Amino acid sequence: MILSNLKSRYNAWRETHMGRLVTESFRNQGHLYGVAIAAMVIVALTSAGTAWIMESIINTLTDPEKRSQIILVAGGVLLLFTLKAVATYIQSYMLSRAGNRIVAVQQDKVFRRMVYRGVDYFAANESSDLLIRVTQGAQAARALVDTLVTGFVRDALTLVGLVAVMFYQQPFMSMVIFVIGPVALIGIRALLKQVRSIMEQQMTSLAEIIKVIQETSTGIKVVKIFALENHMIKRMDGAIRSVEQRANDIARLQAIASPMMEFLAGAAVAIVLAISALDFLSTTPPTAGQLVSFLTAMMMAYEPAKRLSRMRVTIEAQMVMVRMMFELLDQQERMVEAENPVPMPKDRADIMLDGVSFKYSDEAPVIRDMTLAFDEGKTTALVGPSGGGKSTILGLIMRFYDPNDGAVRLAGEDVRDVSFADLRHKISYVGQDPFLFATTVMENLRIAAPDASDDDIFDAARAAHAHDFILALPEGYETQVGENGTFLSGGQRQRIAIARALLRKAEILLLDEATSALDANSEALVKEALDRLTDGITTIVIAHRLSTVLSADKIVVIEAGEVAQQGTLDQLLQDGGTFKDLFDKQFGGHSAINAQTDNPEEPDTPIAQAT
Ligand code: ADP
Repeated sequence: MILSNLKSRYNAWRETHMGRLVTESFRNQGHLYGVAIAAMVIVALTSAGTAWIMESIINTLTDPEKRSQIILVAGGVLLLFTLKAVATYIQSYMLSRAGNRIVAVQQDKVFRRMVYRGVDYFAANESSDLLIRVTQGAQAARALVDTLVTGFVRDALTLVGLVAVMFYQQPFMSMVIFVIGPVALIGIRALLKQVRSIMEQQMTSLAEIIKVIQETSTGIKVVKIFALENHMIKRMDGAIRSVEQRANDIARLQAIASPMMEFLAGAAVAIVLAISALDFLSTTPPTAGQLVSFLTAMMMAYEPAKRLSRMRVTIEAQMVMVRMMFELLDQQERMVEAENPVPMPKDRADIMLDGVSFKYSDEAPVIRDMTLAFDEGKTTALVGPSGGGKSTILGLIMRFYDPNDGAVRLAGEDVRDVSFADLRHKISYVGQDPFLFATTVMENLRIAAPDASDDDIFDAARAAHAHDFILALPEGYETQVGENGTFLSGGQRQRIAIARALLRKAEILLLDEATSALDANSEALVKEALDRLTDGITTIVIAHRLSTVLSADKIVVIEAGEVAQQGTLDQLLQDGGTFKDLFDKQFGGHSAINAQTDNPEEPDTPIAQAT
């Protein structure tokens, strides 16, 4: 009965965050913890032994009859302290190693989960928040297991050993002390309640600090242009002050515990001395050795008792962060890979949106019951007002999101039925503001095709009109591009992205072309590179540029999540409506034929607004 009750409580505990962390850590680092715990038992025993041997030390020194035993006692002391020293070394080293392992394992695990998450996940969680959870969470996990092991094994055993010595030497005095002890605990409990909420606020403020630093660093130009320095300083000040305030609150709570215990310990010593002086109840007065041994045990018990009494406070604080890390691990994954993926058909590259509806959140749908075909080997241009849903369509095809209704089919297969690897292998994407990693140009190109030879990479760069400017960089292909490619111009970044897409040799190309960042000259170069890239490949391009619309096989006008019009340029111009309005607005008095001569001075109104 009691046993099964205990068992079910243990099982329930294992499901808690703390239980999961502890069982997992013990399973993985069992050998390290085993050695550490064995050493802790020795530390506890030798600590109690130190107090106990005081009796012999004092008595052999003060009693002339026992002087012959001095060497023996000295040997005993030496042995005890040697044992204690070795065991202390082993336990703290093993515990640190196990702890470092926990940090490594947890960070690795959280990151693995994170990197496979869907794009929606990163939209919902701010990067500063993720950063805090991953780094602090793993550290807290380590600290928590440390606290539990040292608390329950070393401190608890040491305390038991010392208390045993106390009772052995002076049972009556010990009982008096144990009436005073619990008083301390009542005070500690009161502190507990406040700690949790303070720690949670602390984490939020820490994330805010990182966010402000990140935003200042990535958005420094906006900060300067809009003279937001003061605004940023104010935000930072607020966050810093809040962290400071919370840290002070926690310090205050922790600081109360120590002196309170110290005062009680002092009071206990005073009481013991008074009792021994009064000498009532005791028929034979204690020897000096017994009294010293008792006092030593009591004073040595102070440290582990203090740590144990603070353990709950410490654990509460650590649990807050551990919980935050587990929340991150446990969040429901919305984009799940098919369990038994069907193979992606090899030589088909057509795309079909089949009655697709999609919304990002609970609000109005962004794509409404859209059926749209993209023919193999052809270029389809998406045009229409900003916010109409064009980028979302590309996102759905790449399966950054799943439709709420209908299906996206690629080569005839529902994209949810194929593996992520197969799907993305088939697709290249060049966005408006291509992301570059903070490494060399070469590395940035190579990520697209790790097996490509240097010559392949140079060829791709040539085709993308990037080779020449790359060679002109201070260290050519080995030049560092800076965080997100800040050392390069928009046009240069885009041409590197195009070279990257060329290297992929994918059958489908998704392009969110942007001209806004480019001057006329680099725009012409990018366009030429793109033409090369799209040749014979199934291409969907969000067209910001008139020339793209002119050379597309099909034009689709997307408005408010629906297909407003589709057809060839001629058809759409004949039909009139949204496209013709957009087109006329862009060209003013010009005819389509004039426009085809690729006038570098782009008209002011773009066909699609950059989002
Ligand atoms: P377009 O590319 O035509 O400018 P988008 O597909 O980018 O349009 O956006 C369509 C709509 O979806 C817009 O109203 C936009 O505000 C919204 N939207 C885009 N991305 C997200 C997102 N990650 N979360 C919530 N809403 C979004």
